[in-house]
Amino acid sequence: MTTARPLDDLLSQSDIQGKKVFLRADLNVPVTPQGTIRDATRLDRLLPTIQELSDAGARVGILSHFGRPNGEKNAAMSLKPIAQTLSSILNKEVSFCADCIGHPAMTGMDNLAAGELTVLENTRFHPGEEANDEAFIKSLSAPADAFVNDAFSAAHRAHASTEGLARFLPSFAGRSLQKELEALEIVLAHPTRPVMAVVGGAKISTKLDLLFNLISKVDTLVIGGGMANTFMAAKGIAIGRSLCEESMFDKVRDILQAAQDSNCEILLPEDVVLAENFADTDSPVSCQATEVPEDMMILDAGPLAVNKIKVAIERSKTLVWNGPLGAFELTPFDEGTKIAAQFAAQQTIAGKLVSVAGGGDTVAALNHSDAADGFTYISTAGGAFLEWLEGKTLPAIDTLQHNRLDKRLG
Ligand code: AMP
Repeated sequence: MTTARPLDDLLSQSDIQGKKVFLRADLNVPVTPQGTIRDATRLDRLLPTIQELSDAGARVGILSHFGRPNGEKNAAMSLKPIAQTLSSILNKEVSFCADCIGHPAMTGMDNLAAGELTVLENTRFHPGEEANDEAFIKSLSAPADAFVNDAFSAAHRAHASTEGLARFLPSFAGRSLQKELEALEIVLAHPTRPVMAVVGGAKISTKLDLLFNLISKVDTLVIGGGMANTFMAAKGIAIGRSLCEESMFDKVRDILQAAQDSNCEILLPEDVVLAENFADTDSPVSCQATEVPEDMMILDAGPLAVNKIKVAIERSKTLVWNGPLGAFELTPFDEGTKIAAQFAAQQTIAGKLVSVAGGGDTVAALNHSDAADGFTYISTAGGAFLEWLEGKTLPAIDTLQHNRLDKRLG
């Protein structure tokens, strides 16, 4: 596979001092309605690339989208407050350009001294960003000499600031994007076998491509969460009032057949934990998966099922995890996810397992389980992580890997 040019190739250039570099970051951090950042993990992960570019004397312009302003200016989605947060995390001045194209962007970049940083306003304030419009890419690229992409989480979108710039500027992979690619390669492209996947969460309909691709790649696939209910119901097992997607029964049969054809073992829970309602409870009931009463709902994997998952983890060398095994926001239905995830973390720390997790609610579930720190790699990319696991080409990565421009176009 062609690899993207590493950051070192840019840092070692003789004219890096004073070079104008655009860094595509993902500053789209979760914020409260009052604008307070709920989780700064994405900012923390950008620090190595920012620091190294700045230390090398580059003049760094940070580009990002924020929210969904639909191609129009929207003060509530300005990146200005995020620039201030970044400045305090870095303990370094970070200026702000009121637009990512035109005069503000040109002068903003020109006014930087070697090693200085600026954040440019939300790229999605322009319709050309999401349209990946050539004229817009040209204006966007104008102030810069080189492009570094460190936003894996936005790489599944062919937008001007992700895919487009990599066609117009000499382009390089940032440290965090590189790390993400390496982690994903380890689990799916060149895994040490046996390899297993845990896929949980609410619905099969959102994870069909993921399931089909994983079946062809892994030795064991654990199905958990609400998805497992639909599997059991499709097999004719009564599941009471549990979450179930009846329209997916045919797909479930296709998945089971595909698993058989690929020699992939599918693990469904043999016992489950129940409640009368989707709510916390201090009196959960557990039973065999085949004995769920009509008026109850499955909200977690049972102790026997979790033990089986632990045994599967114990005999695996590589693990990829997406989605919780139960309704982990509710007590005690977080227990299954907690026990299995903590065991995966222990095996990883003991050097017996390579474990990678990400997508959707997974990071929250593993953090809640006090297991995230033990995993080999936790992806903060939602859609991009899933699309990679689905076997899809991520356009921004594809262009980054194939662009070999030495000089900016135009
Ligand atoms: P996803 O975003 O698809 O990974 O789904 C995560 C959601 O699945 C969480 O909000 C869980 O509460 C939910 N979930 C997991 N297991 C169940 C279940 N047995 N019944 C209902 N919801 C569930």
